[in-house]
Amino acid sequence: MNNQDSQIITRGNERNNGFSEQKELMVSFLWLFVPASLLLASIFYAFSTQTQQYELQATLIRDESALKSAGELTSLLFEQKLSDLLVLAEGEVLKNYLHDESMKNWIRAAREFSLFARRKPKYFQIRFIATNGMEVLRINNSDNAQQIVPKNELQDKSNRYYFQEAIKLEEGSVYISPLDLNKEKGVIEQPIKPTIRFATPVYDGYGEKRGILIINYTPVELLHRIAENFKALHGNTVMLNSSGYWLVGAPDEQLWGFMYGNDKTFAKQRPDVWAAVSATEKGTFLSDDGIFIFHKAYPLNRDNLGTVENIEKRVAAIENRSGDRYWIYLSHISNNLIADLTAKRMVVATVTYLLLFLVTGIISVFFARNSVQKKLAFRQLQQYATTDGLTGLANRRELDKLSTREFKRAQRFSRQLSVMMLDLDHFKRVNDTYDHTVGDKVLKHIAGICGSAIRGQDLLARYGGEEFTILLPETDIEGAAQLGQRICDNVAITPCQVGQIEIAITVSIGASEMEVGDEDFQDVLLRADKALYEAKKRGRNQVVVSREGYYLSSPAFLSDE
Ligand code: GH3
Ligand code: MG
Ligand code: MG
Repeated sequence: MNNQDSQIITRGNERNNGFSEQKELMVSFLWLFVPASLLLASIFYAFSTQTQQYELQATLIRDESALKSAGELTSLLFEQKLSDLLVLAEGEVLKNYLHDESMKNWIRAAREFSLFARRKPKYFQIRFIATNGMEVLRINNSDNAQQIVPKNELQDKSNRYYFQEAIKLEEGSVYISPLDLNKEKGVIEQPIKPTIRFATPVYDGYGEKRGILIINYTPVELLHRIAENFKALHGNTVMLNSSGYWLVGAPDEQLWGFMYGNDKTFAKQRPDVWAAVSATEKGTFLSDDGIFIFHKAYPLNRDNLGTVENIEKRVAAIENRSGDRYWIYLSHISNNLIADLTAKRMVVATVTYLLLFLVTGIISVFFARNSVQKKLAFRQLQQYATTDGLTGLANRRELDKLSTREFKRAQRFSRQLSVMMLDLDHFKRVNDTYDHTVGDKVLKHIAGICGSAIRGQDLLARYGGEEFTILLPETDIEGAAQLGQRICDNVAITPCQVGQIEIAITVSIGASEMEVGDEDFQDVLLRADKALYEAKKRGRNQVVVSREGYYLSSPAFLSDE
């Protein structure tokens, strides 16, 4: 029998102390909590990087589509302007005037243009300029008032760039000026009036070029709308012309630089971004300070010109112009902005994570406790099955099991094995004199004396009632007799103290050893039981040894040796 078994049995149902239970709880908790929280942490990590990606993607998509629609808006706008221009240029009224330049025809044409201007408040000038550059007919259109400029106030425009460009064109071709600011008498009009001029050559009935028709248009509302749309975007968004000057979205002092003769351009400010922008129609540029997305818009996007008859052919002439070929809508999403965007989500995610972490901890504690409790319950059940509830000693079942094992072992290896049966003398009297609980205390008292007398490998068991058995591996009958005598004497000199009462008690002991011819442990036990009976018969409070069919009282037996 090994030491661990005997420890369990002799120490009886002494509970596991609190420390080991707590330790077990801790181990069980960590086994659950560590993998669960690691899993949680990796999910959180994946989620947070995913969130950053997602936020950035969403911002890019939103800004990109806004830039694209700003571009489409611009293109769409020109479609209508071009058809208006051509309708006027090819109209009967102007043709009549060119055929007969009478005052009457001039007035008719002026009225026609004036009427047209009333319906088109954003065309703030409509002019017919003759081939020599002199204005022939001019309508000033402001604040819903149409002014036909008197003939003597008309000016020479032969040296203006728009005239020089437009007069060169063929019939049906259209000139579109760069988007700039309107000047009155050589000075930039205040408040600034962004202006585009649409011009087309005018031919008379004989097919002769007679001048140009030119409309000044202010896209101020369009630009406001674009600026408003830009504000709703996450990124810092600007509109540039194809030379890199700011038109919308920059501080006022940076806008329209080319009009004031300065060379402050985005192209100079950010040559790295500008190189990428110049190279493609649209795209994304990653820089150290964030992401730039851009979209070019062509004033004459050919896809959008389909509804105007023949217009595709007519605008072909302006395609190679290098001036204001396109505008750029450009949005800068800075690193700070990206961080700001994700920060809010990250706070939510982190709080969620911490809560989950806490919940995981609580669940882990719950499961750990449950599992430890189950373990303890199982252990207790095991203990109940193998030990005696009153004394905490091994019960008879456990004795049977272990003694059979010890018997076989002793037989196989030719070792010695002894056993003792112990019975309390006149125990009935104790029960009768006092009550059952006092009797129980006496039983425990005896168990205590026996327990402290035996060695580690011995097995003390409660056989039943007030009878105890001590199994003694590696012990011959002499050893058993000696131990029996010691117990017997100890019991006799140690009365049981119950409260104020001292109860004197004695025990009788029968001992035997494994002998040749024994088939199982019961043979040995039976002899010990008979020796016990003999001890009772010989007067109790003594040890009787069974040896080879004889019963010998222990002191005599021991002194015989
Ligand atoms: P002796 O053995 O010396 O012949 O006399 P005895 O009075 O001990 O006689 P016996 O062995 O026949 O009686 C056993 C008694 O032990 C019967 C029962 O009242 C008592 N007893 C048995 N088990 C318990 C127990 O668990 N608790 C208590 N209090 N008494 C028990
Ligand atoms: Mg008895
Ligand atoms: Mg008895």
